[in-house]
Amino acid sequence: MTATLPPLRLKKGEDRRLRHGHPWIYSNQIDTAATPLAGFEPGQLVRVHDARDMLIGIGYINPHSLITVRLLTRDTGTTVDAYLVAKRLRAALALRERMYDQPYYRLVFGESDGLPGLVIDRYGSTLVGQIATAGMEALRPLVEQAVAEVLAPENLVWRNTGGSRAMEKLPEYVEAGIGEVPGTIEAREGDLRFRIDFAHAQKTGWFYDQRGNRDLFARYGSGARVLDVFSYLGGWGLRAAATFAERVVCVDSSLPACEGIEANAALNDLSGKVDTLHADAFDALKALREDGEQFDVIVLDPPAFIKRRKDHAAGLVAYKRLNQQALRMLAPGGLLVTCSCSHHLPEPELMHVVHEATSRAGRNASVLARLQQGPDHPLHPAIVETAYLKGLVCAVA
Ligand code: SAH
Repeated sequence: MTATLPPLRLKKGEDRRLRHGHPWIYSNQIDTAATPLAGFEPGQLVRVHDARDMLIGIGYINPHSLITVRLLTRDTGTTVDAYLVAKRLRAALALRERMYDQPYYRLVFGESDGLPGLVIDRYGSTLVGQIATAGMEALRPLVEQAVAEVLAPENLVWRNTGGSRAMEKLPEYVEAGIGEVPGTIEAREGDLRFRIDFAHAQKTGWFYDQRGNRDLFARYGSGARVLDVFSYLGGWGLRAAATFAERVVCVDSSLPACEGIEANAALNDLSGKVDTLHADAFDALKALREDGEQFDVIVLDPPAFIKRRKDHAAGLVAYKRLNQQALRMLAPGGLLVTCSCSHHLPEPELMHVVHEATSRAGRNASVLARLQQGPDHPLHPAIVETAYLKGLVCAVA
């Protein structure tokens, strides 16, 4: 089959990064005189050749995308079929099963698991998938076939929403690939159950990337009063309520998220300890301070304030404001957990945000732990973008 795929030729020297393990080809690396981009359909499979016409691998293309080709295999004798996808899925599953004793985790993390453009989260017998590229969209039937074979889930639901699809000119939709679209899904963390109303879920439903960090938090968090800002369904807040806190306030601007916290607090017998504040985080922080509130632990886990490089300056200001506002309400000796999922905000800059905020407030911080995404979101050593989550656990005197 490989021989029948259309060839794509790279410019001289542009095979180097690819040969060193990076799976992406940008449009400016392609010899468009030899293989014009107009000759390709979005999502089509291509044979990638270097300038001397040596076959390097097979990938999928989107001529409209800046990342024009993503390599699927360097084994030039391989066919891209359900067998190949099943092989990658099995490897991804084996890795997770080594690390987790319950089937609640990110099963597939795109390029890092050899399946570019594909994310699959696991909620017991329900899988929630998200496809980011035209190439993976075209492979969707193969993915469904492979998933059925390797995992035989009750449901595989495609939650194909989110900004990156527009860049690939893909429509947004939610639909079942296997089984049906469930009304609710359930994540498990610590000893807690989190029920998620699927119609109002964010992203793929649950932020598994922070789970290991929340485990750490549940172990060495201390103090009676906890503020969980950008709480979503209360991942941090409810874990605190279950382990060390007497009172938790969760802040989120999404009403379904706040309702979900109340429901999950009840589900886990924590209702008496948990309050929700349906508000913009910056407004809520201001209002809480005006009410004279103080907290022993504050968690800041915002959405990415810097989505694109050009948002860097404005995003940095937002991170600074947020951390400064929070610090004003942190009791002496309190714990600040401050996170960023912006790839464009490297950890040293987050460190600087904390440093600036604490010194302005005349306080001192010691960083007790550096947080990153959990091992079900493995980093691809060649793709810096796969390392996106960072956080700092700070004791603030
Ligand atoms: N801390 C969560 C994940 C946070 S995701 C967890 O561990 O699961 C980001 C959350 O911020 C979303 O729930 C979103 O509704 C909320 N959000 C986005 N902008 C906000 C704002 N300006 N004020 C308050 N919440 C906001």
